[in-house]
Amino acid sequence: MPDRRDTDVTRGEIDDTPTVACSRCDREWDLDYELDELHAGNGALEQFALDHRQHTGHFPDDVTPWLAECRRCPDHEAFLSERPARRWAETHARHTRHGVALQHASVDETIIIEPPSQ
Ligand SMILES: [Zn+2]
Ligand SMILES: [Zn+2]
Repeated sequence: MPDRRDTDVTRGEIDDTPTVACSRCDREWDLDYELDELHAGNGALEQFALDHRQHTGHFPDDVTPWLAECRRCPDHEAFLSERPARRWAETHARHTRHGVALQHASVDETIIIEPPSQ
């Protein structure tokens, strides 16, 4: 139907829905569910990545998570940006008095969040 296509172009609709691939799943998804159902907007990729990890245990391609890993207990968590990762590390250190290691591909050295001294 050429008519419908013309309409879409005129209206400036997102014709090329963003896609995300996962080599571990050997699959590719478009983000229309995140955009239409969850109204995630600019956070659609982020939303997909978090959901993907929740249900499969890993992140899709092109996502480099911040990893927060406790040095004293098996607790660990992954985040898409530094702020929540740092917050997790700081609260874990605060409540358990454990040191937490923060790692990200963009940072050469591991960041260590030490528990408060008292
Ligand atoms: Zn996957
Ligand atoms: Zn811990």
